[in-house]
Amino acid sequence: MTLINNKKSLALLKLTSCGSCFDVTKDNADDFIKLHHFYNIYDLRNRNKIDKKYDIIILEGHPRTRGEIALAKLARHNAKIVIAIGSCAQMGGVYLQKNESTLNKVIYIDYVIPGCPIDHQEIILCLVDLYWGKRFLLPDLSVCFECQKNGNDCLLEKEQPCLGPITRMGCNSICLNHGEVCLGCRGLKPDANIDKMQDILKQNSSEKDASNLTTIFGKLIK
Ligand code: SF4
Ligand code: SF4
Ligand code: SF4
Repeated sequence: MTLINNKKSLALLKLTSCGSCFDVTKDNADDFIKLHHFYNIYDLRNRNKIDKKYDIIILEGHPRTRGEIALAKLARHNAKIVIAIGSCAQMGGVYLQKNESTLNKVIYIDYVIPGCPIDHQEIILCLVDLYWGKRFLLPDLSVCFECQKNGNDCLLEKEQPCLGPITRMGCNSICLNHGEVCLGCRGLKPDANIDKMQDILKQNSSEKDASNLTTIFGKLIK
């Protein structure tokens, strides 16, 4: 049963990516199906052109080729709102090569849903908020906040590197809960203390290891 008569249009578009951010929608199909009450959804992932306007276009992936850069610009031209999903779209992710431009250097992005892959509840909340004309806001605190709330021992105290202090929370510190370090896949939190993080990394790891750690999902520290 359709509860809402005035649906908005929502298109899905893919640049260079592994596809797993959009797969989150398949893995949580029972939740995503409810979005059909709010949106007419158009899957453009196998197309390389956009021939009409949409209220919202969701972009997954990093623009690697000239064709993808042109497609991203076309998406911007044809969407009232552009949402970039995943670290690939946010900051290049694992696909970023030396001297390449990230998506936000190619087009203006209205909203980012961070992570590798994204959290399904975050994208659903974002789309529901935008449907009702509200701004969607990500949490501002660091992964450390969730990590400590979850009772984990701090890796920095054991002189192991961890990017939790500069990374935006929202993943429920999932890596730390399983004994892994935070590699910063959700990108920088606002006002992240980069200098302090660099000092800590210098103490806990070699320059090369620190550089590798902070560039896995895009350049977190320049
Ligand atoms: S952010 Fe991660 S999961 Fe999402 S498309 Fe990129 S590599 Fe895949
Ligand atoms: S282990 Fe990492 S995320 Fe957890 S409190 Fe320490 S620095 Fe922060
Ligand atoms: S703990 Fe860090 S690397 Fe792991 S999911 Fe959260 S932000 Fe990403």
